[in-house]
Amino acid sequence: MDYYSRRISKLIEELSSLPGIGGKSAQRLAFHILHMPLEHVESLSSAILEARKTVTYCKQCFTLTDEELCPICRNGKRDPRTIMVVEDTRDLAAYEKTNKYGGVYHVLHGAISPMMGIGPNDIRLKELMQRLQGEVDEVIIATNSSLEGETTAMYISKLIKPTGIKVTRIASGVPVGGDLEYIDEMTLLRALEGRVEL
Ligand code: ZN
Repeated sequence: MDYYSRRISKLIEELSSLPGIGGKSAQRLAFHILHMPLEHVESLSSAILEARKTVTYCKQCFTLTDEELCPICRNGKRDPRTIMVVEDTRDLAAYEKTNKYGGVYHVLHGAISPMMGIGPNDIRLKELMQRLQGEVDEVIIATNSSLEGETTAMYISKLIKPTGIKVTRIASGVPVGGDLEYIDEMTLLRALEGRVEL
């Protein structure tokens, strides 16, 4: 990219390291940024920096938050005895959009994948088991319906069964391999309502 000066090339290179951004998109974004008002660029870069520096994991459910406890765990109206297990914070957001779930969450930050070398210790499973020592009525496993999601669901249900806590799995109306994030609210709601005991 020596037809661009060093700083422009650097910007394109950094942008193209982001997921889903190929070389062409990176160039388009770079030139867009270079034509933006300086204040706008400043507020964009400080939003990135501030979020990266302050966002951490909720002490209870491990979703991403900039506070010790996320707004859902802090909300006294949520039922802490029903815990929905999801793969990541985007899945949590997808269920929140349905406005129909009143329990709390547990965010695993991944799924078990022997192929990718991701084992039970690489996701927040130990933390889930610790939470279950408190008063919990039901664990709803809402991992994706991909191979990894199903493997994780089976693994978790086997771990929880001996505790006597009810374990359910969201209904498989959700397309296979489908990212929960892209599924519409009605489908998610049907999957939640049609959950089956494992
Ligand atoms: Zn939380």
